[in-house]
Amino acid sequence: MMKANMSADRLQNHFFYTLKPMIPRRLQLFLRRQIAQHKRKKYAHIWPIDPSSGKPPKDWPGWPDGKQFGLVLSHDVDTRKGYHQVLQLADLEEEMGFRSQFNFVPERYANVDVSLLGELKKRGFGIGVHGLKHDGKLFSCKEIFSESAPRINAYLEEWGTRSFTAPSMMRNHEWMHELDMDFCISTFDTDPFEPQSDGAGTIFPYWVQGRSPGHGFLELPYTLVQDFTLFVILGETSIDLWKLKLDWIASNRGMALLNSHPDYMNFGSGPCQDEEYPAAFYRAFLEYIKSHFNERYWHALPSEVWNFWATHVRPKRIPAERAMPCS
Ligand SMILES: [Zn+2]
Repeated sequence: MMKANMSADRLQNHFFYTLKPMIPRRLQLFLRRQIAQHKRKKYAHIWPIDPSSGKPPKDWPGWPDGKQFGLVLSHDVDTRKGYHQVLQLADLEEEMGFRSQFNFVPERYANVDVSLLGELKKRGFGIGVHGLKHDGKLFSCKEIFSESAPRINAYLEEWGTRSFTAPSMMRNHEWMHELDMDFCISTFDTDPFEPQSDGAGTIFPYWVQGRSPGHGFLELPYTLVQDFTLFVILGETSIDLWKLKLDWIASNRGMALLNSHPDYMNFGSGPCQDEEYPAAFYRAFLEYIKSHFNERYWHALPSEVWNFWATHVRPKRIPAERAMPCS
């Protein structure tokens, strides 16, 4: 029954996202809000919490230092406005003792300034490549993807990162093996509001095996609802859903991964525009983590999760990987 529902949603999504470029932005938002309210009721049994996603993977050793859960913060920087707010967000996190990964679109809003990337790295933040143009076409057909892959790889090298994040979480894991990356954020545990809404069904990182032994990448699914969905589409006016989900992830010893956007944060004291929410909400979330879970979480960059996985989980699996036929 759920499969049939998901298929109907896939058709609806296909129809909406095909027409989206022709629909004025305000109407797009209106339609997405209507559809989201309907989905929220329909998928209440698996969103924001999918009870089946809490089981740890085979051979999972637990988090470093015996910590209860993992905490990863990531930001997709989608627009010029977001690009200009990156340092404000970095300051906010640094002031509270957190670090995150900023993912930039190479060919959309600006020539991404390598000195900005350098400054972020120096301050302990991570960097990722977020698609190429963020125009919805990257995964639309194999030809476009394969033409884009060498350019994305060039940015990965130039920016000194092995991390890719997928625009709008549109993805094709099989094609993505063409990218020179070790880890990515391109899916989620459960999120019926995404255009490609079939989630990973886990709150733990997992390996996406390539065609040859040792080739593949680590997928870090986001597990807390994205800010745009929560505040702009669903119209929530508090961080209660973030808290609820975080508590559940912590009790299941999983990975809390929040992917949010400086683009939609209002750092000022004036009223929020239509596609904004107060940056104070994000600050309140970080305060909640600190006050409720003091010392009980392993706060890591995506690159640190990758390193941990590569040294503690992967070695146990290498015999199985070696047994896979090479093609
Ligand atoms: Zn994006």
